[in-house]
Amino acid sequence: MLYTKDTLSNWGIIGDYVCALCKAEVETHQHLFFSCNFSKQIWHKMLNCLLITRGCEGWNEELEWAIGYVKRKSIVVDVYRMALAATIYYIWQERNLRIFQQKERTTGMISRLITQEIHHRASMIPRLIGYMQNLNFYP
Ligand SMILES: [Zn+2]
Repeated sequence: MLYTKDTLSNWGIIGDYVCALCKAEVETHQHLFFSCNFSKQIWHKMLNCLLITRGCEGWNEELEWAIGYVKRKSIVVDVYRMALAATIYYIWQERNLRIFQQKERTTGMISRLITQEIHHRASMIPRLIGYMQNLNFYP
């Protein structure tokens, strides 16, 4: 379970509702993952890397699309899964870094970390090694 600020503030733990990433809107799960402008920029870059040309909507829309997409048996789906998991991980990590350590990274820095991680992971999966060259990932 991810404890976003709306959950914590319901318990009276945190009084600050503002999203640490965009600093403009109230932090909820729905907002943090893909409604937030900061997160959207990162995910948009990842979709670009995957050569998926569509906009980035909210979390529910993303999940709905993803459920339909991952049913397709294609190698790009494996990479898509990796990208989605890594993006969620890095967005959550960035949010915690900002709140608890007062450190900030740009969307460019985070996107680079995600693409590096995907490259590293894919390099250990034989069927993906050749395939990665077809995608738009720059390590
Ligand atoms: Zn935000």
